[in-house]
Amino acid sequence: MNYLSTRGHADRKRFCEILLEGLAPDGGLYLPETYPQVDTATLAKWRTLPYAELAFEILSLYIDDIPAADLKAICAKTYTAEVFGTDEIVPLRELEDGVYLEALSNGPTLAFKDMAMQLLGNLFEYELARRGAELNILGATSGDTGSAAEYAMRGKKGVRVFMTSPDGRMSPFQQAQMFSLQDANIHNIAITGVFDDCQDIVKAVSNDLAFKRKYRIGTVNSINWARLLAQVVYYFAGYFQATASNDKPVSFTVPSGNFGNVCAGHVARMMGLPIQTLVVATNENDVLDEFFRTGVYRVRAAVDTHETSSPSMDISKASNFERFVFDLVGRDAARLRQLFVDDLGLTGSFDLSADPAFRQAAERFGFRSGRSTHADRLAMIRDTEKRFATLIDPHTADGLKAAREQLTPGVPMVVLETALPIKFAATVVEALGEEPARPKKFEGIEALPKRVVQLPADAEAVKAYIAQHCD
Ligand SMILES: *Cc1c(COP(=O)(O)O)cnc(C)c1O
Repeated sequence: MNYLSTRGHADRKRFCEILLEGLAPDGGLYLPETYPQVDTATLAKWRTLPYAELAFEILSLYIDDIPAADLKAICAKTYTAEVFGTDEIVPLRELEDGVYLEALSNGPTLAFKDMAMQLLGNLFEYELARRGAELNILGATSGDTGSAAEYAMRGKKGVRVFMTSPDGRMSPFQQAQMFSLQDANIHNIAITGVFDDCQDIVKAVSNDLAFKRKYRIGTVNSINWARLLAQVVYYFAGYFQATASNDKPVSFTVPSGNFGNVCAGHVARMMGLPIQTLVVATNENDVLDEFFRTGVYRVRAAVDTHETSSPSMDISKASNFERFVFDLVGRDAARLRQLFVDDLGLTGSFDLSADPAFRQAAERFGFRSGRSTHADRLAMIRDTEKRFATLIDPHTADGLKAAREQLTPGVPMVVLETALPIKFAATVVEALGEEPARPKKFEGIEALPKRVVQLPADAEAVKAYIAQHCD
């Protein structure tokens, strides 16, 4: 399997070459040259597989530069009941007739990002050992990504993590999750500033090519193809649990920010998984809902990006969206460059409303969308608790709200649960007046010793810190 750039660069790469990379050299995103097709006989074989073996089967279609036995061992080591809490790994629960929650949040940091990041940690360790190389991961987080990356990379040979976060801005639970890690290869850097300052620092350091090369700086952000690929697996696992046979369509609703999660659903659908509809759920930061309703993609300015009670979906632009648009315009790289380089660069938006391709988003690719507000989230959390005795987090509430607007009789609707309520306790308390339950292993973490340094919002200070801790 070879990978190409959405912006038309002539190079073709193999999986392990793009594993440790971010953007393609021309600024595009990597995608497989073709989507492997899965027929009904294959689906029938896969239906009864344990999750780790299903992951191996799907990953093998995209990875041909890791020996099969090694890849199988990596999957088996990653997707265990010990790490994810159950043998099913992603158990499905029916709320009411035809509406399901797929639990993706029972990994080490209680958000769905563990599903991909845990695999990435094991793939990185394997590939770095094979090359005899090291990698220093530099990241910026407002919460879920940073903790998922740290729990995936802790104790891994050849990898260090330098994770910046805005000082004092994460929830106490999120801070405790990250800062209580005592592993020598994990470095928490609290920046005096906001999340955008952290992102600017990461960009500035990555743009210093000499520094980047000397200190082997890498990232684990959501455009990484391996993360997206790992997420494809749970669409298959959810499908098999929601159906008794492989001729039944299923729809999914996905709480969305950077379009990474739902893009994996798009890939599963392109492979032939019988997905009827993919519902993109947004909060007040509704760039994606606006596109699927109108055909206009309009990136928001920082001042127009709202701080909401589903903060992991507070985005101004959706960094994986380019992958879907590439397929939408028939994989025409020149057209894609016009949209993402010329139009977005000049005006901050592009408009496909008059383009016949736009209709295909719904008709051919099955996309719908929805948007919710803080009041909707509170109402959805209350309703779900009252009628089904089930606590959901505010992101999952965004999903459930959008899902209810897109139900089709006879077609199961699977809502992806992207975090556990304890991670966003304040909003759950606001809705219900009570604290959500906390898994035993997180009892009292706020009181544990914290391992974190404070640095000013200055790329030079961060570079000096990295240089000091790399020997
Ligand atoms: C990251 C995250 C999302 C958004 O996922 P994308 O892949 O960026 O669309 C939604 N919910 C939670 C809890 C998250 O951590």
